[in-house]
Amino acid sequence: MLLNTYNRFDVYFVRGKNATLWDKDGNDYIDFTSGIGVVSVGHSNERLSKAICNQANSIIHISNLYKIAPQEELAELIIKNSQIKGGVFFCNSGAEANETALKIARKYGELNGKVKRYKVITLENSFHGRTISTLKATGQSKFHTYFGPFPDGFEYAKDIKDIYNKIDEKTIAVMIELIQGEGGVNPFDIGEVQRLAQDLKEKDILLIVDEVQTGIYRTGEFLASNLYDIKPDIITLAKGLGGGVPIGAVFTRLTDVLQPGDHGSTFGGNYLSTRAGIEVIKILDEYKENLKEMIEYFDNRLVEIAREFTDYFDGVSGYGMMKALRAKNSKIRDEIVKRAFENRVLVLKAGNESVRFLPPLTISKEEIDIGFDRLKGAL
Ligand code: PLP
Repeated sequence: MLLNTYNRFDVYFVRGKNATLWDKDGNDYIDFTSGIGVVSVGHSNERLSKAICNQANSIIHISNLYKIAPQEELAELIIKNSQIKGGVFFCNSGAEANETALKIARKYGELNGKVKRYKVITLENSFHGRTISTLKATGQSKFHTYFGPFPDGFEYAKDIKDIYNKIDEKTIAVMIELIQGEGGVNPFDIGEVQRLAQDLKEKDILLIVDEVQTGIYRTGEFLASNLYDIKPDIITLAKGLGGGVPIGAVFTRLTDVLQPGDHGSTFGGNYLSTRAGIEVIKILDEYKENLKEMIEYFDNRLVEIAREFTDYFDGVSGYGMMKALRAKNSKIRDEIVKRAFENRVLVLKAGNESVRFLPPLTISKEEIDIGFDRLKGAL
C-alpha cells in the first residue's frame, strides 16, 4: 500500500498527448494542470521523448565525480536565456533547490559582514517546499503543525512593504516568489519588487527569487525575473525545466561561495535530467512567439468565464500560463474543481479561493476551447 499523503481523484491516466489525457477506459480529459506546472512541452512530446530515449541509450547516470557535458550545456542555456551572469547547481526538486539557495545565503552571511548574518525573511503566504527548512521558509502556518522544532533564522513579512520592518543586522536574505503559486496565484507589483531589489542590493542583503513554479516560460518570459526586469542574487528552478523528468536548479551570481565539499547531490544534474532540460528549453525557445498568441487566447476564454459567472468569481489573476479564477469562497472553489473533473477538465486549487490553471505551454487552441467549454458545462 501507499502512504496516505494525497487526496487523489479516482482515475488512472494511461496516455497523454500535449494537453489531453486518456484514462484506462479511453475517456479523454483536458489537462489545465500539466502535473502542477511540470509538463511544460506537453505530454509525450516527440522531441523530448526522443532526446530522453537517445540519452538513456548511452548514459543515464555517472555521478558528479566526473564531468557531465549536458549539465554544462544546460547551465549555459539558462545563463544565456535569462541574460543574467552566474553559475548553476543542479539538484532534483524545488525544495532541494531552495535548500541550496539557503545554504549559499548562509555561507555568504557567515563570510561577509561585521557580524554573522543568517536570518532569511520570507512572506506569510509563501510556499517554498516540504523539507524541514523549506517548510519553515514557507510562511503559511498551516504547513507547520506537527513538524517542529524547525531550524532558526526565519522570519515572515505580511507583504513586500512589511519586509522592511523585519530587516535587522542579522538579515542575510529575502526569499520571495514573484507570483505566489500555491498561495493562490498572487503576482506582486513590478515597481514594488524592483524597488525592493534595489534597496536590498544597497544593504548587501541577498534577494532569492523562488522561480520553481514561475520559471521556464511559465509567465511568457523565460523567467518571471525577466518579466519583472530584476537580476536577483539567487534564482531557484524546478518543475517545468525537465518537462516531467525530475530536476531542480539554483542559479546565482555568487559563483565562488560554495566550494567542493560544501554541497552536492547524488542524482542532481545527471545525463538524463539535464538532456531533458536542454530539449525543453530548445523547444520553448522556438515556440515562444506562438506562446504569446496562445496566452492571449487562453486569457480571453478565462476572462469570458469570469464575466459570465459573476455569482462564483470575483475576477482573474496571474501572468502568462499561470492563472487563476478567484472564487467567492473555498466551498464554491472546491465544488468547481470537483465538477470540472467530472466534466473531464483538470484544474487545480491554490490558496483559499483560487481555481488555478497551469496548462502545458504548448496547449493548442482546440484544447483550450474544449477545456473551457467543459468548464462552462461544469459551472
Ligand atoms: N517553490 C515553489 C514556488 C513551489 O511552487 C513548489 C512546489 O509547488 C516548491 C517550491 C517545491 O517544489 P518541489 O515539490 O519540487 O520540491
